Amino acid sequence: MSSRRARAGARAGARGSAGSSTTPDALPPNVRDALRRLSGEVKALFSSRLQPEHGGDGGSPLARLRTAELEAIWHHTSAVRDFLVSAKGLPWASSAVLDHASARQALLCLLAASLRLRRHELGGEGGRKQELRAKIAADIAVILSCALLLASAPTDHPGRSLRLPLLRSDALHAAGRQLAELVEPLEARAAEAAAGAVDTVDTVVLGSAAAVLAGQGSVGRPTVAEGHSTLAEPAAAYAGTLLSLVYMIIIAASDIDMVSGATEALEVRKELVAALEGSQVLEHAGRALMLLRLHVRGTRLARLLVQGTFEASRAHQGLWQLHRFYRKQADGQDASARVGSGLLAARLRAVASGCCAQYAALCLGLAVLCNADGCLAYGMPPALLAVLPTEAENNALDTITFSTLAARQLRAMLAMLRLRLGAAASPPGRRGALALAMRVGWLAVASARALATGADGGSGSTARGGNGGADLEAPRRVLQAPEVFPVAATALHGARRYLLLFTRPEADGAVAEAAGWWRLAAALAAHVLPHAGPAAELAAFGDLLAVSVWDPEVDAAVPVLPLPPDAPPVLAAAVDGGLLCCLELLMRRAGRAPDGPEAAVVRTLVSYRVGGSGFMNSFPKLLAYGKPRQAAALVATLRKLLRTAGPQTTPADTAPKPTVHQRFALACESILNAAVSWDCANLLQAKVPDQEEGGGLAPGGGPSPASQQLIRLLSCAACELLPELSQTLRASRRRSLNTLYTMVSWLPLLAVRCTSKPCNSAEAASSPTESGIAAAGDGGWRALLLEEVGAVPLLDGALHLARQWNELQQASTEDFVCRLVDACCFVAAVYAAPGPAPAHAAVGRSEAANNWAAAATMGALGESFRDAVTASTSVATAMPPLPWRPELLRDAEAHLRARGEQELASDAESLAAYLEAGGRGACAALRRRRLSEPGPLASALLPPAEARRLLPGRCANPTCANLDGDREADLALKACAGCGAVDYCCRPCQTAHWRAGHKELCGWMRGGGA
Ligand SMILES: [Zn+2]
Ligand SMILES: [Zn+2]
Repeated sequence: MSSRRARAGARAGARGSAGSSTTPDALPPNVRDALRRLSGEVKALFSSRLQPEHGGDGGSPLARLRTAELEAIWHHTSAVRDFLVSAKGLPWASSAVLDHASARQALLCLLAASLRLRRHELGGEGGRKQELRAKIAADIAVILSCALLLASAPTDHPGRSLRLPLLRSDALHAAGRQLAELVEPLEARAAEAAAGAVDTVDTVVLGSAAAVLAGQGSVGRPTVAEGHSTLAEPAAAYAGTLLSLVYMIIIAASDIDMVSGATEALEVRKELVAALEGSQVLEHAGRALMLLRLHVRGTRLARLLVQGTFEASRAHQGLWQLHRFYRKQADGQDASARVGSGLLAARLRAVASGCCAQYAALCLGLAVLCNADGCLAYGMPPALLAVLPTEAENNALDTITFSTLAARQLRAMLAMLRLRLGAAASPPGRRGALALAMRVGWLAVASARALATGADGGSGSTARGGNGGADLEAPRRVLQAPEVFPVAATALHGARRYLLLFTRPEADGAVAEAAGWWRLAAALAAHVLPHAGPAAELAAFGDLLAVSVWDPEVDAAVPVLPLPPDAPPVLAAAVDGGLLCCLELLMRRAGRAPDGPEAAVVRTLVSYRVGGSGFMNSFPKLLAYGKPRQAAALVATLRKLLRTAGPQTTPADTAPKPTVHQRFALACESILNAAVSWDCANLLQAKVPDQEEGGGLAPGGGPSPASQQLIRLLSCAACELLPELSQTLRASRRRSLNTLYTMVSWLPLLAVRCTSKPCNSAEAASSPTESGIAAAGDGGWRALLLEEVGAVPLLDGALHLARQWNELQQASTEDFVCRLVDACCFVAAVYAAPGPAPAHAAVGRSEAANNWAAAATMGALGESFRDAVTASTSVATAMPPLPWRPELLRDAEAHLRARGEQELASDAESLAAYLEAGGRGACAALRRRRLSEPGPLASALLPPAEARRLLPGRCANPTCANLDGDREADLALKACAGCGAVDYCCRPCQTAHWRAGHKELCGWMRGGGA
């Protein structure tokens, strides 16, 4: 108290006498007058005549005032209250009131006196005096509640300095005691109401209903019904306002957004935890709230409790935020602070876990759910359900949407469920909590869909998708647009905590349960994300998806292949729940709108990392264990995304913050690197990998189905992604070592298939003859390597860059140079070999290449078509010499020799000499590559023509970048009217392809190939 006085004095001193030196007083004259006289009277009445006469606790000074004195005080307090209420609690008004230092002190004195009033002094028989005391006490509670409305107040609002004195003066203790005493007579009636709950089936959700209401909660005790005693109206009104004040104090003290670094704020929060602990006020308030709701049913006091309900929800949410704040501190900071913050967080949870507080939050949330569902009572006593705030009283005009209050109640319920200690044991139990959170999440999804349907005239075209359809019956009421995303995200976060998958993944049903969670997540991404708010919310959603799929067991350094036959539970749940489709949707939308919410989520998701591991390490595994069609569609979508991005795609190694397009490229690389980390190393060392170890083998021997699927999709990814990445690398000024490394590592895999028969490695080893290369039906390997990927110009650029990087002397460069020289030798071996010579191999994509690529996409038609195309272009077998500069290879040679890579250095030397001779004569390095056997991965890759059959039917325009719709497979294709042999997704694509050369081919096709 002394510190409060000192501060009040200092304030008064600094300002001079009230109202004289500062700006003109904002207060109306009558209010200013009331405040002045109030402080005078309180000082006179409380300090002299009415000090405790008998030394000890003489009760409240208000109890001893005469009626006339009470009348006078009430006259003043009601004037101040009316003023604040009419000003709608705006900060300037309360600031003006509190700026009167003496008035401020008088208000605190009156609060202390009010809180000490006993029930019989506030109501019951006796009349006028009791009524006046209750009215004064209610006025004070309202005035101080207004003073604590700090959310939009400036940092120097005097209300802030009220918090410490309030917490330190045991106001919460006194308020808790008083609330308990006031509602005591209501218990008997409530017990009757609650009795209805005992027999319902759903009591598993709310088993404690009757006990809480009958006063058997943690603070209550079984009471003897006091006859027909009840609560008089002024006392009940006071209890309602006191409830609001209690919650307001908690809200104001737990607000972590306010000057969060200031020492005063830290002190306030600590005091709050201590006061909540000591006073058990959350329990008293929770029970009082429920009992009062039952009591005031149908009376004019009902509206009063709406405010208290609102504040209760805000306070419960505030506690959760404060808890999270302490948890974050506990995870960061130095050791000493960590312990302190962790302890505070734990104490806060204990306080919030009390059964009455939990029950109140649960009831308020359930009331909203029941209102939306229309029927399910979730085990709530019907009598209680009937009096819980429903939209009839809050929002009578609008029969469709919920009010903001409803959304708050839902989020507060989830917050309190998350704070609850021993959640699995006490009602509603782990399953109940999970079901509630999921239900709230689906309500938000249904709301978003209803809003979308309303907005686009009911077409509802985006509201498709068979996920969780049963959960998506249109609710009777929906959330407002701004509430949809926060509610959904809170639910998703909350539900995740209760999944068995993260505690006992081996338990029965753990994967199925988590798959349900993923269905909600996918629906949220599809429908709710467009309603998302600030970037922080989106990033949190991205993190949630990432952390939920990220398999901590798998270290980044471990090669992806070979894969065990069964997916790890975390991945199994994600693919069952539709994560692949969800990713495709997010990426397509992000590609269409790089500034949209989906792009923000993709950015977080792709860059999510903990230590050396991250979401992207799981990406190839998702493809391996997912549905093949969905995985292939995702690859096809990624190709288009690379196309739309243009030359800026390649992530520069040093870029501070990659754009969303660069993240697409990263995603592509993470898929392609699944091969790099495994097979290329073996190819370099010409060593057969040791497949015995690890569970990668299927029971019958050979790679597991998952490994096989990944290899098939890697074949797809090679056809789809390598050409685009190469294109962007060649077009881009900035070059990324990582991207080049991926590319250069892949080239030998493709090249070795050009020089060997497309059969298993054992057979290939027996007769890898050079004549075999020219054999028809190489499956399109050569076209992929030399034309689509443009390996020759790509390596040309890489050789130039290698020289610059050599000067940087980085360890990673060394490995890169090894792979680069190896790739050069491999590609040169293919290039020099006789074969269907492409017309413009050195130039990269050409018209012929386009036609050829298009032909390759045509599946069965491809073979004959390609032969026809090559027949027309293979006249010129004399290849232009390789454009690589020999001195660059000599540079590489010197570099490799200096580092002891003698064999590769000799290869580089041999290749340089070959180039200097104009590409004529024998070359040991090339010959060796030509005769080398494909490694296990290279020999398992599907030939391009076959791999492309996995892809969704696609547009024949090779530059098609149509990202419409949420899935590649959804694009409706139309056949060319001329030949009927190729399909297009849209007219512009058809026009582009026609001009690019289909004009000639179409006629040829129509003519039957004559
Ligand atoms: Zn197209
Ligand atoms: Zn045609």
